[in-house]
Amino acid sequence: MRTWKWMLTAFLLITLSAMAQQTADQSSTSSPVQASAAASQTATTPAPTAQPAATQAANPASASAAAAAPTTMDQVVDRSIVREHALMDMLKTRTPLVETYLQNLKSDQKLGPVPSEDHYFLGRLDLGEAVDRRDYLSKDESFEKNLLGGVSKLFKFEYKPMGFSWMIFADREDFDRGHYSFKYVRREFLGEVRCLVFDVTPKKDAGKGRFLGRIWVEDQDYNIVRLNGTYAPRPKNAMYFHMDSWRLNLIPGYWVPAYIYSEEGDFSYGAKDKMAFKAQSRIWGYDLKKGGKEDELTSLRVDSVKDETPSTTDASPLEAQRQWQQQAEDNVVERLQESGLVAPDGEVDKVLQTVVNNLIVTNNIDLPRPVRTRVMITSPLETFSVGNTIVVSRGLIDVLPDEASLAMVLSHELAHIVLGHNLGSKFAFNDRMLFSDESTYNNFGFRHNPDEETAADTKAMDLLKNSPYAQKLDVPSLFLKELSERAPSLNALLTAHLGNSFTNDKGQLVRLSALATTGPALDPNKLDQIAALPMGGRVKLNAWNDRVELTKSAPVAITSARDKMPFEVTPFFPRLSRITSDGNGGNPTSASNTAPTN
Ligand SMILES: [Zn+2]
Repeated sequence: MRTWKWMLTAFLLITLSAMAQQTADQSSTSSPVQASAAASQTATTPAPTAQPAATQAANPASASAAAAAPTTMDQVVDRSIVREHALMDMLKTRTPLVETYLQNLKSDQKLGPVPSEDHYFLGRLDLGEAVDRRDYLSKDESFEKNLLGGVSKLFKFEYKPMGFSWMIFADREDFDRGHYSFKYVRREFLGEVRCLVFDVTPKKDAGKGRFLGRIWVEDQDYNIVRLNGTYAPRPKNAMYFHMDSWRLNLIPGYWVPAYIYSEEGDFSYGAKDKMAFKAQSRIWGYDLKKGGKEDELTSLRVDSVKDETPSTTDASPLEAQRQWQQQAEDNVVERLQESGLVAPDGEVDKVLQTVVNNLIVTNNIDLPRPVRTRVMITSPLETFSVGNTIVVSRGLIDVLPDEASLAMVLSHELAHIVLGHNLGSKFAFNDRMLFSDESTYNNFGFRHNPDEETAADTKAMDLLKNSPYAQKLDVPSLFLKELSERAPSLNALLTAHLGNSFTNDKGQLVRLSALATTGPALDPNKLDQIAALPMGGRVKLNAWNDRVELTKSAPVAITSARDKMPFEVTPFFPRLSRITSDGNGGNPTSASNTAPTN
């Protein structure tokens, strides 16, 4: 427990400081890419043939690529087409998860475009011959009806969740010179990776739904690392969304689709758009079936040898009861990890655990089994606990403004554990683990009844008052106020799928509502008052192996109320870097902290 103290300082005080918001993906405002599309059109377009030679000369380190280095831009295009098909082949057997969180927007005089309602999709992609998906959640009927009924005269939004992940590939069927023209634009760095930029347009008569936009091709193996644009030509009664699709070098030789940002409509004066939204799609769990399972087995065996046989005698009745509960807890956590919903044990858990331990130690809590923490990979704001394991969603960690707010969230689940609310021992029977990944939400549920919720809230307030966070509850209180205020337009974000929600079905705050009645008033104009952060700013997810870590990025100053964007979706701007040469598992930490070889 002692050794975690320094981690608290290292991770929390730095990365969980209120001003650390706005950072993460959109922090690279100085990136050359920010040069707008308009500016890029006037950018000089050097003679295509001169460029690749210079590229190679400046990059002698890429020996493998140099062997057959392209000497013309045409050859670069040919190479990138080959690499795109290689990526499709490699992903053929993969069934990653894809999550889309969408916010419809309305215009607010003070705050600019703000969410008016939201939608959430979570499914499994099948990247075989054709791209297909299966959903974890039942279809959002109202959404489709809305879109079909709302503006159907002009555009029929045949919006299926699938559409948001369409830009995983530029064109699954016909990405070749027969169907597309490629025009070299310029060279440009995306993060640490130098890219060649091309405009891609479908050829005349290439057919419907062809990619139209820009691609960024890295200059070592010529993989596409970013796609930005839409599809054309537009069918008569439908429309294609605009998308910005990012790939990461998580395994040697391949850049794997990880983030897609979509946006449509605007509120500029005279704009005709009747519909405006922004949406983030995240793809992960590429390596769920392969490898992951073996790791699971090994770690499980080690655990059981270590933890579950402390003595050579048979278990006493009480010991047996505890072991039974441990077994149920292990089963559930393992199953959730297998289905791609919970991240493997890692760095973020240590941070969560440190905060939990602060609460435990200062409250003199004595538990027969240690409390553990895990991160649920999805966006909706939720927490639940199973046995002595507390699970917090990535989306929730993302929007929490500081460490005390994290303590507030954890204290409620710790209270359930202390009060003995988490029995759930039915999951010690292994047949209850045998269901399809997509039906996880139907087979698991860790909701407490209202009485237990009230008791946990009361206990949580006691735990907080005896803790190092006792004097720091103003920010958690502001967080709850902000959440309460935004709740009516963020129904999907606030719908918990495995645990209890922060709000009831009328959108009223129910979690720790007593805390929300204390402390300072919410004031959007106070620039130093950060009640909640935008989505995606704290936790970085490795799309290949599902590991999560805290984002390391410098704070960006907030200059107006519009910069706060609590709970809002923003574009992605990941800092691209190449995986280190050991080729070991695609750890984003090592990748992003290592300087490229040029
Ligand atoms: Zn609860």
